[in-house]
Amino acid sequence: MLNIDGSYGEGGGQVLRSALGLSLATGTPFQIENIRAGRARPGLLRQHLAAVRTAAAVGRAEVSGDSLGSRALSFAPRALVAGEHHAAIGSAGSAMLVVQAVLPALLVADAPTRLVVEGGTHNPSAPPFDFIASTFGPLLARMGARVRVTLERPGFYPAGGGRVVVEVEPAPLGPLVLVERGAVRSIRARAVVSGLSTRIAHRELHVLRERFGLARDALVCEEIEDPVGPGNVVHVEVVCEHVTETFTAFGEKRVRAEEVATAVADEAQAWIDRDVPVGEHLADQLLLPLALAARAGARGAGPRDGGRFRTGPVTLHTTTNAEVIARFLDVRFTFEPSGEGTLVSCA
Ligand code: ATP
Repeated sequence: MLNIDGSYGEGGGQVLRSALGLSLATGTPFQIENIRAGRARPGLLRQHLAAVRTAAAVGRAEVSGDSLGSRALSFAPRALVAGEHHAAIGSAGSAMLVVQAVLPALLVADAPTRLVVEGGTHNPSAPPFDFIASTFGPLLARMGARVRVTLERPGFYPAGGGRVVVEVEPAPLGPLVLVERGAVRSIRARAVVSGLSTRIAHRELHVLRERFGLARDALVCEEIEDPVGPGNVVHVEVVCEHVTETFTAFGEKRVRAEEVATAVADEAQAWIDRDVPVGEHLADQLLLPLALAARAGARGAGPRDGGRFRTGPVTLHTTTNAEVIARFLDVRFTFEPSGEGTLVSCA
């Protein structure tokens, strides 16, 4: 039984999610204390509990401490169960973070899985569906994974009501090498409103159009039919030679649509100016696939090489994740300065 301290590093939900995914993928039981000790509301929130329950179903696991607010948990998987799985968060908690918690296991299972998750699909502080579909998913595919994500219905905080389907066909992962961004090929912007005026989306798109000199066909305005609750999200997708990055901002009460659009434009522009291929969020999410690729290489009598990527300054979220991964897998991450950024390697 591995002992994990949930207060380690950033002390957030990532420690738990990565531990769940790796416990399932390696068959290693673990116990965790001080869950999310670094957060204002520590312990398991609904979304974390949904991740635990989904992971328990996927791994036919023996679990104790799986209740709302719990700060300690033990999790012992018995067998990976591929096939059909369904998780309902019961709030607008992020469905994408539930996916994040079990995806490592589904990638190494011995049969395909179809996972349906209901909850929020576009939440602040979580990967929005579009990021998984356009940025993370294609890189996983480049590593050999066969993952298809479908948005059946978007769900926004606080009403939720979203539904996402993830279909995974297990395949061994190979290393990813992503050190150059390459030229910017195109920029696309997409503004979505749910239960709000499309004027908001048009104002956001207007800002992005001016800012990046976009043609009309690079702009998408989407109004959700039969909305469960209000919501507004705007994405900027920057398609480059070697990677596509997705930047996101959410409309908020008392924040002008122009400010929302400017915030996401600034973020996208900062990434373009820095000339590193991997943005802050993508960096922490790539660690786990790289580690699985390193393990697959070592098992197949190949080199223990998960690959490498170049990103900006390394965040505490990323270093925390690297430490948790190294507790479960015999891999090592190195972080070296490289030009304006950091070269992250996994072997
Ligand atoms: P909590 O303790 O509240 O559960 P957390 O530890 O899960 O927090 P966060 O920093 O909130 O940590 O990040 C959760 C995950 O969501 C990370 O994998 C991060 O990369 C991802 N993420 C957050 N914002 C974005 C974004 N705009 N685009 C893509 N991914 C994002």
